[in-house]
Amino acid sequence: VTENPTQPEVNIGLVGHVDHGKTTLVQALSGSWTDKHSEEMKRGISIRLGYADATLRRCPEEEEPECYTVEEHCDEHDVDTEVVREVSFVDAPGHETLMATMLAGAAIMDGAVLVVSATEDVPQAQTEEHLMALDIIGIENVVIAQNKVDLVDRERAQDNYRQIQEFVEGTVAEDAPIVPISAQQEVNVDLLIDALEREIPTPDRDPTADSRMFVARSFDINKPGTTADSLLGGVVGGSLVQGTLSEDDEIELRPGREVEEGGQSEWQPMETTVRSIQAGGNPVSEANPGGLLGVGTGLDPSYTKGDALAGQVAGEPGTLPPTLEEFEMDVELLDRVVGEDEEDVEEISTGEPLMLTVGTATTVGAVTSARGGECEVSLKRPVCAEPGAKIAINRRVGARWRLIGIGTLKE
Ligand code: GDP
Ligand code: MG
Repeated sequence: VTENPTQPEVNIGLVGHVDHGKTTLVQALSGSWTDKHSEEMKRGISIRLGYADATLRRCPEEEEPECYTVEEHCDEHDVDTEVVREVSFVDAPGHETLMATMLAGAAIMDGAVLVVSATEDVPQAQTEEHLMALDIIGIENVVIAQNKVDLVDRERAQDNYRQIQEFVEGTVAEDAPIVPISAQQEVNVDLLIDALEREIPTPDRDPTADSRMFVARSFDINKPGTTADSLLGGVVGGSLVQGTLSEDDEIELRPGREVEEGGQSEWQPMETTVRSIQAGGNPVSEANPGGLLGVGTGLDPSYTKGDALAGQVAGEPGTLPPTLEEFEMDVELLDRVVGEDEEDVEEISTGEPLMLTVGTATTVGAVTSARGGECEVSLKRPVCAEPGAKIAINRRVGARWRLIGIGTLKE
């Protein structure tokens, strides 16, 4: 396997309440604005899962943590900086109605930055809900960015800092460093990178295993009006969690697509060829596991447009987990519903609908049986998953889906 120095090796999520500065922070670290969708620009909020690649660097003439930077040149010492690590950032939307998107994104995060604004009381609803989601999904490497410190005086900043400390007690972020920053003014970016380097190591991944990619986004990259003979194939974006992927590889996508046959509909895996791979903003002929990839395929782009394949799993044909239309899971419920109006979590009951996030897939299922700590669900849209997979369980409370617990897929 040839090492590709420009391929991102770790996925770091940005989570937290809407408007606390997640997208601004990604911009400060990567130079790119992830809210590209026209609706996002209009409303000023992130709707889709955003992503951006960044190169973290250090000035060779400077000590830690001041050495860390995203600039290619250190003006103070007049030397070029050195590459520390290539990182993919996954920017989750913080709006309460977009929890499913956040949960799907969490499936591909190796660690996360919880962004908390110093201008508001702690916790705001999605500060708490997102932290709970990290806890549930088992994302243990967390850094807290106390953002917008440029907008508060010293006393308020200290007060807010203490509120954050109190809030994370007893959670997965209990020992997480809290770094005061201003994403907009680019203050303390060096300290934040230092914290990322210490707290969110690149996980060990197996490049020799069967290739497995979790698809988080999918696109039709053709301009409207492109003629049929110059049409480019569908693109899928996501994270290769194990194995390698090369140009001209045959891949399978599961669950694939729903096919009507003799009045019956059935989900069939799709097979295609890898035509191109983008990693870290560059075309590569082979990708190693880790970081985010864009994979050009031979699929008809109408299958991939508008995230239609988000939630699918891709890999070598014949090696993927099965497609499940129903499954049984062990369930661990939270004590209470997280968010604005906290209520106790009632037991799951037969017949109730649940929204389930399995890997990057989100699907609604009806509970066909529920008894002490176990439940069976029948899914509207199947998922590709194997025993042991973690499932975020959401229940409709009032007008929206709320996170109520974690499931583990049974044999
Ligand atoms: P998101 O919803 O968490 O992605 O938040 P955004 O990154 O979209 O930021 C929300 C608003 O806060 C925008 O108007 C930003 O310009 C502003 N903002 C973000 N970070 C800072 C900061 O450190 N200082 C100040 N003054 N404003 C900030
Ligand atoms: Mg945003």
